[in-house]
Formats: sequence, C-alpha cells, structure tokens
Amino acid sequence: SSASTPIRATLFPGDGIGPEIADSVKQIFQAADVPIEWEEHYVGTEIDPRTQSFLTWESLESVRRNGVGLKGPMATPIGKGHRSLNLTLRKELNLYANVRPCYSLPGYKTRYDNVNLITIRENTEGEYSGLEHQVVRGVVESLKIITRQASLRVAEYAFHYAKAHGRERVSAIHKANIMQKTDGLFLKCCREVAEKYPEITYEEVVIDNCCMMLVKNPALFDVLVMPNLYGDIISDLCAGLVGGLGLTPSCNIGEGGIALAEAVHGSAPDIAGKNLANPTALLLSGVAMLRHLNLHDKAELIQKAILNTIAEGKHRTADLGGSSKTTEFTQAIIDHL
Ligand code: NAD
Repeated sequence: SSASTPIRATLFPGDGIGPEIADSVKQIFQAADVPIEWEEHYVGTEIDPRTQSFLTWESLESVRRNGVGLKGPMATPIGKGHRSLNLTLRKELNLYANVRPCYSLPGYKTRYDNVNLITIRENTEGEYSGLEHQVVRGVVESLKIITRQASLRVAEYAFHYAKAHGRERVSAIHKANIMQKTDGLFLKCCREVAEKYPEITYEEVVIDNCCMMLVKNPALFDVLVMPNLYGDIISDLCAGLVGGLGLTPSCNIGEGGIALAEAVHGSAPDIAGKNLANPTALLLSGVAMLRHLNLHDKAELIQKAILNTIAEGKHRTADLGGSSKTTEFTQAIIDHL
C-alpha cells in the first residue's frame, strides 16, 4: 500500500515526446497510488567522459542501484566522439534480452483480434556487434558474432519466461540453412535449454517462413526467441499486427536482474511539444515494470483503465484515429481507474 516504504525506480523521460508521455505515466501512477518514487534522469547536454556518451554516469548508477527503471525515447545527437545512447545503456547495463509482448487491444480493431505473442530478442551481439570495415575498395565486411554464452543466456530467459507466464511453446527463429555456423550455434543452445523444460513445446522456424506465418495467422505463435537483427525486424512486424508503435511496450532484461522497461517508438520529433503523443506504449511499459516488481494489483488496475479508455473510443489520440490531446487521454484513463 502507499503507506509502506516506496520503491525507488529510475525514470528517463527522454527526448522529443518523451517528457510529455512520461508526465502521463507519473500522473496515472500517482492517481493509482502506486508506491513508486521516481529518480528522474535526463540525457546530459555534453559528453560524460566516464560513459563516453551524453548519458551521465549518475543515471546509469541509478538504474544499477534501483534494479528497475522506465525509459522514454532518446534521440542520439549526430556527431563524432560519442556512443549512441541506447547502445551505451545496452552495453553498460548488459541488457541482454529485449522482451516485447504483443497482444490485441480489445476495442481497437486491427486485422486480427487474437494476437497474443511475445518476442524475445538477443540484444548484445549478432549483426549489431558494430564490427564493420572495408576490405578493399568496393568490398566491405560486417561480422556477425554469435557466442554460446549469449545464446544460452537469452534461451534460458525465453524458457524461464514461458514457464513463469504459463506459456506453452517457444519457437526459435533462425536462418541456419544459410547461416550454418552462427544460427546453427544459436539453435544448438536453444535445444540444450529446451531439454531442461520438457513441459514446454520447442520448435524451430526459418525466419522467412515465420514472417509468412505471422502475417497469415499470428495465433500460430506463442513465445519467439531469436538473434538480434531478426528480433529487431520481427518485433516491429508484431507491433504492426496489433496497431503500431504507439501501443507496444517492451522490457530490457539485464545481468543481475535489472529490468529497464521502454516504449519501442522513437522521440517522434514531428509531433513533439504539441500534446499529441499517445502515451500508451510507455504506460504499458510502466505496467510491465510493475509486474516485474510483483505489484500485480496496481499493474492490473492501470492496464484495465488504459484498455477500457481505448475500447470506449471517446478519448483516443490522433494515431488511433481520435482527436484527443495527450493530457485529455491521460485524464480519461485516470477517470477509468
Ligand atoms: P519515431 O518512432 O520517433 O516516429 C515514427 C512515426 O511514428 C512518427 O510519425 C511519429 O509521430 C509516430 N509516433 C511514434 N511514437 C508515437 C506516439 N507515442 N504517439 C503518436 N505517434 C507516435 O521514429 P523516427 O522518426 O524514426 O525516430 C525519431 C528519433 O527517435 C530518432 O532520433 C531515433 O534515433 C530515435 N529513436 C529512439 C528509440 C529509442 O530510444 N528506443 C527508438 C527508435 C527511434
């Protein structure tokens, strides 16, 4: 209850629409009496030599200390001599798995009504290792790194998640017929972990076939686990199945149990500062954070209020075909609590 000691969580409002949607989260959490005390951190205006990026050392320490956080979108400033903000977070906090639940929102009609799947993306290596170079003029090379350690770690997380959430099946997505060594090792690790979970059905699906199956009938899948690049693409495909980037939450899982929830969309500079952004994705990310903290009653309360507001249809933001401002939509959710 709100009378007990509040739990500290880090909040990165982020750039562009970030502060507007973060305000919405803060207001709704407060109205729902969520026992959380936010430690707010903004992206710095100059490079912090300790992180080699615009992210301050203090903000990273805050996440490490609290173990949980919520992150708005961050726009990485263009220029040399610093690291991408999201990459810095991923590396420094060892955020090895990106988890994205994708489910149909009742009352918001899309092509499918019955989407309920989870994508789990390996987040530290693969094609995103940043190892690209020119071999000779006209020939470049990019290294895709797959390690046994990172593959086992993300596979373990996927099966653990499936079991903990009463899911029945884990599908490993791959292209091992072509990428025999790299995706081959990824699959081998998934198989090893699968053996420890006999109660969960394990299958392997080639990525091209997976895309076809997803758009034809998303109900064919349950939990999907995959290397970095495939995960980047498939998770956006899945977001599209349920209504787009304004709606989909995600959570990054790091070493030592860190959970940093974030909306999957960017800073939306085209609508920033205009009170037009849809806060749903960040709100549902906040809900995921509450579940991680075992605050299930509060999570349920807020999630229901969001879904009921959208289903009712009176207050929707422009991306969902409505004309409500961010603040009006936020107030409607508070009224539904
Ligand atoms: P974007 O997601 O910011 O915008 C794409 C489109 O979706 C825009 O038309 C935008 O108005 C709309 N949109 C996005 N979120 C919305 C919301 N909550 N409500 C209503 N409409 C929304 O993608 P972009 O334009 O490619 O990227 C802009 C900036 O964000 C770039 O600097 C990029 O690097 C950064 N970015 C950050 C993250 C992150 O922090 N995780 C992710 C993606 C992009």
